[in-house]
Amino acid sequence: KRRIGVMTSGGDAPGMNGSVRAVVRMALHSNCEAYAIYEGYDGLVKGGDMIKEMKWEDVRGFLSEGGTLIGTARCMEFMQRDGRRTAAKNMILKGIDALVICGGDGSLTGADRFRDEWPSLLEELVKEKELTPEQVAPFKHLNIVGLVGSIDNDLSMTDATIGCYSSLARICEAIDSVDTTATSHQRAFVVETMGRHCGWLTLMAGVATGSDFIFIPEQPAKEGWEGNMLNIIRKHRQMGKRKTIVIVAEGAIDERLNKITPHQIKEILSEAGLDTRVTTLGHVQRGGQPAAYDRMLSTLQGVEAVKAVLEATPETPSPVICMIENKIVRRPLLEAVAQTKKVAEAIEKKDFRTAMELRDAE
Ligand code: ADP
Repeated sequence: KRRIGVMTSGGDAPGMNGSVRAVVRMALHSNCEAYAIYEGYDGLVKGGDMIKEMKWEDVRGFLSEGGTLIGTARCMEFMQRDGRRTAAKNMILKGIDALVICGGDGSLTGADRFRDEWPSLLEELVKEKELTPEQVAPFKHLNIVGLVGSIDNDLSMTDATIGCYSSLARICEAIDSVDTTATSHQRAFVVETMGRHCGWLTLMAGVATGSDFIFIPEQPAKEGWEGNMLNIIRKHRQMGKRKTIVIVAEGAIDERLNKITPHQIKEILSEAGLDTRVTTLGHVQRGGQPAAYDRMLSTLQGVEAVKAVLEATPETPSPVICMIENKIVRRPLLEAVAQTKKVAEAIEKKDFRTAMELRDAE
């Protein structure tokens, strides 16, 4: 029986458990065995008990749980070839030669590198007598399939990452709460949201809560933004609005490339006469139960991931499972990661035109 491993890696995101459940159950349904790798690449490098066979009932209740129940970690050893060789050995000892990874672009890059090195890692293991030629013979190729777990919705080539709609829902809930108290006191609130390179959460939260003004990394605030923001807020107030909400992404900047901070905005609003408070949402945005959308997305994509494993040939490049125009599709993992990196690099270099063009090209 084919043995398929499933792992969550990098930053956690609501819905990751749904993908583990779907991979385990689809693997069993397809007459394969399923293995969970605990604590991300750490579990792969440590081996032994960190790689556990999963039965149908082992993932019961996973769908509605936030975070990741099989753990996640950032693993330095896996960044080194030695660590990846140990990981390969642990997989062979368990008889696993297919891995579904739910994580961000870092985790997916590491996975494809592992697949690429696999034959040479096995050669080394045999040469150094850590494994026998008979042990490695049945496992010539490693199949990798990526699932994108990230609250930021920051991967190219997919319309939604697993976790982004749960996070958006959480942000909206939080802003709704802030709204009631802001309205009572006619206050202004500056809300800081996550997103260093990607303003998707902030932009969508702005739309979904009807906020007055937002700041995102992809669109640096133009010269004179302070006056522009105040004019808009004054207009809203004149129309009878009793509250003001400004949302700022972590990575927000102005045209002169200076970081825009919530406290800076608070100063401006306070000087204009508004009683202003700052609320930093922080890790609340990552936690809690997955939204219905993420349960559905992780389930459908987990099923597709197992299909992709079973249909893979040695020549097929590693796929990442995406959602494009409401359809679950496969895309070349390396291309999606490369495109994502280009956007992040353009933003880091403050080349916003290129960043926006690349985003639009998706
Ligand atoms: P994310 O997957 O959320 O982008 P990271 O970039 O921190 O998170 O990656 C998670 C883990 O994936 C790292 O701790 C490391 O073990 C592994 N990884 C990331 N990039 C690589 C790489 N280029 N080569 C090998 N492993 C990597």
